[in-house]
Amino acid sequence: MIYIGVDLGGTNIAVGLVDENGKILLKGSTPTLVERGPEPIIRDMGKLSLELLEKGGYSVDDVAAIGVGVPGVTNPETGIISFCTNLGWHNVPLVEILSQVIDKPIYVENDATVAALAESVAGVSKGVKNSIFLTLGTGVGGGIIIDGKIYSGTHHVGSELGHMTVNVEGRPCTCGGIGCWEQYSSATALIRMGREAAEEAPDCLIAKMVGGDLDKIEAKTVIDAAREKDPVAVKVYDKYIYYLAMGIVALINAFDPEVFAIGGGVSKAGDFLIEPLREKVKEYVFYKDLPYGRIELAALGNDAGIIGAAMLGK
Ligand SMILES: [Zn+2]
Repeated sequence: MIYIGVDLGGTNIAVGLVDENGKILLKGSTPTLVERGPEPIIRDMGKLSLELLEKGGYSVDDVAAIGVGVPGVTNPETGIISFCTNLGWHNVPLVEILSQVIDKPIYVENDATVAALAESVAGVSKGVKNSIFLTLGTGVGGGIIIDGKIYSGTHHVGSELGHMTVNVEGRPCTCGGIGCWEQYSSATALIRMGREAAEEAPDCLIAKMVGGDLDKIEAKTVIDAAREKDPVAVKVYDKYIYYLAMGIVALINAFDPEVFAIGGGVSKAGDFLIEPLREKVKEYVFYKDLPYGRIELAALGNDAGIIGAAMLGK
């Protein structure tokens, strides 16, 4: 049997046929075109799935289940997407619409949760019972796996790790909260902190790397300048690592997972991110003499969305 995984993003809908071990057999994508609204987008998920089945020489009978990862809050029991801020969706009956195109068991979950599942089936936390996945991108997304299963709480909003408060007197967040983790540990936050520092120190390497046009600063700009040991960039990056570590320490205290899998755009910094992060966590972890979760780079990259969605049905 094969499993279909759908990764719904703001730019593309990616679909893959996946075997029972989490290996992608065939994949394809089509533009999301958000302005169309939910119904044509969901129908396209089904159409692309059918096209891939035909291309791969499979029939609908070979499909065990379909899973969809969405960038928002879902209710896996009703199949309704409660809301997706980026897509402007509110109470969308995804399963009902998709089953009109392809009639198979359909599962929906939050995309970071789905990526956590993917890493635990076929990635860096494979074979591990308890793990936490973090994605450092536009925001900070989180997924929690306990005893090999997704944990998203009683009301399916329990893994919004990016909205843990790490600074009670901190920055207001888009969610209405104050000092949320993603205000300090997302790629967006690293860019903001780099820009603020470059405004104050126009001679720093960050500013030089973008030719003085501070709107062109990316997370990579700050990271590369820190690699070059530019003192302004190093200070910003140290602060970034500090906040990231503090959130992870809080999660160690709450969950004590075996592995933290770190993904998303900032994770492309590789060891330059992971090594100082491990050092910082070690400094602040509660039980100094006891083992605690390993901090590792996520292994599956962009494929995690497809693989994890497919594995929802397994
Ligand atoms: Zn927030």
